[in-house]
Amino acid sequence: MFFARGRGAYLVDVDGRKYLDLVGSWGANILGNAPPVIVRAVQKAAEQGLTFGAPSPLEHELGERIRRAVPRLQRLRFVSSGTEAVMSAVRVARGFTRRNKIVKFAGGYHGHSDGLLARAGSGVANPALPDSAGVPPAVVGETFVSRYNDPDGLSELFERFGQSIAAVLVEPIAGNMGVVVPRPSFLETISRLAHREGALVIADEVITGFRLRRGTIHETLGLEADLVTLGKIVGGGMPVGVYGGPRDVMETVAPVGPVYQAGTLSGNPVAMAAGAAMLDQLTPDIYRTLERTGATLEERLRACAEQERVHPFTVQRAGSMLGLFFARGPIVDDRGTARSDRGRYARFFHAALDRGVYLPPSPLETTFVSAAIRPTDLARADGALRAAFLAALGRNG
Ligand SMILES: *Cc1c(COP(=O)(O)O)cnc(C)c1O
Repeated sequence: MFFARGRGAYLVDVDGRKYLDLVGSWGANILGNAPPVIVRAVQKAAEQGLTFGAPSPLEHELGERIRRAVPRLQRLRFVSSGTEAVMSAVRVARGFTRRNKIVKFAGGYHGHSDGLLARAGSGVANPALPDSAGVPPAVVGETFVSRYNDPDGLSELFERFGQSIAAVLVEPIAGNMGVVVPRPSFLETISRLAHREGALVIADEVITGFRLRRGTIHETLGLEADLVTLGKIVGGGMPVGVYGGPRDVMETVAPVGPVYQAGTLSGNPVAMAAGAAMLDQLTPDIYRTLERTGATLEERLRACAEQERVHPFTVQRAGSMLGLFFARGPIVDDRGTARSDRGRYARFFHAALDRGVYLPPSPLETTFVSAAIRPTDLARADGALRAAFLAALGRNG
């Protein structure tokens, strides 16, 4: 797909075809496409300079807004992507603990840094294998891949390797294997096991940060995080990543501490202005709207699937994040996601696209609603969704 422009709830491709946007730039566009207040903030900042390669007060504008919403971020750093944010947080955790091993969960995505493009080896206790060509086995050899929602597996890992684990990296609500919510106590178990053994917990909130409430979501779900990563929404549509945590942990970062991290365009003034303008818009009203819109889309998807007798079909939703599975629910981990019928999803996606509804092309990705979507937009998409469900079954409407 090549898009030419976007406004509010809709995208327009290079051939002039219009689509209801249910991807939202993978979650960044929580207010919809090109909100005028953010565009104006970007224009105003750009006129003052595109990059200084040095700090500007705009970093404080965004930094203070983030810190007020997430008080645990006593110190934070700006980078240019979620990938960089997580990569840097992992380096800080290793530098702080002087340990090397990292634990992630199968189905979790944390950007494309080498060490995190890892899939489970044979058995939990074995080092991970590369999940991409070009990644050396030795690099992912420092990563363990545990199972989401499986406290026993994690406990076993900690029993055997606890003293060498620097950090556990987790999405508090998984958004890269569809939408998978943690079972009660799973996240609590993570922080308990990690902290008992002197390891840190990194909450990867690149998707969930400012998506479900003004701030992060891990605290409300019982996860005690040391480091937190943000991205997507906090950049207001520009390239921004954030990592941060308590003062003592963050003081391992240079120039105060020994952990190196820098970026030519980090804290870029135009991106900072976009992020600050975005956060100013995220009022409780916006989150109420997002919840309503998410619930409406969920109901409509269920009703359309029912009408076309598509079984099994499961929607898992957290606010404005929806996971769509052609499988019986509940889906609790990557094995559940893998049960979703990929052929059906592919036909569903293409049929919806042909009828002007842009969904994520992979069932592993989250369907996002933005605050720009009105009930009438969803009502208008009903016909497309029904036809897409028919197509999913290999029939034509
Ligand atoms: C998108 C994402 C990242 C990577 O962010 P990029 O800006 O694409 O590099 C990291 N973690 C999570 C949870 C994400 O969803």
